[in-house]
Amino acid sequence: MKSFAYMLPRLLGSLLRRPFTVKYPFAPAEVPPAYRGELLFDAEACVGCGLCVRDCPAFALELVEVAENRYQLVFHRGRCAFCGQCQESCPPEAIVLSTAFELATADKGSLTGPAAQSSAGPK
Ligand code: SF4
Ligand code: SF4
Repeated sequence: MKSFAYMLPRLLGSLLRRPFTVKYPFAPAEVPPAYRGELLFDAEACVGCGLCVRDCPAFALELVEVAENRYQLVFHRGRCAFCGQCQESCPPEAIVLSTAFELATADKGSLTGPAAQSSAGPK
């Protein structure tokens, strides 16, 4: 056990220092640029090759042809491991994992649906 004389200056010092903890959720969290969060899909750039579906280790993606040469990506968020393999595999870079991380929900059914659209446009 440390002596009181040892602890006192440290206790007083900690009263004067700012806390090391972040203010989230009372203030926006700072997310590293390389963070792998919500998947964004650019339907304009997608060529329908299916490599993302083939390479996803979690079976979290389905590709649906909605019109001639037009594709929609169905995303099973509840299965996704946010590994980034789909982004790596996509030749035209039609998939990007964004820094959005607040994906929790009490509605399990809402975890499956069309992937959020990226507004990035064709690469
Ligand atoms: S991030 Fe990984 S687990 Fe999630 S959809 Fe892409 S390949 Fe599948
Ligand atoms: S890998 Fe890219 S281009 Fe190919 S189907 Fe998936 S999203 Fe579309």
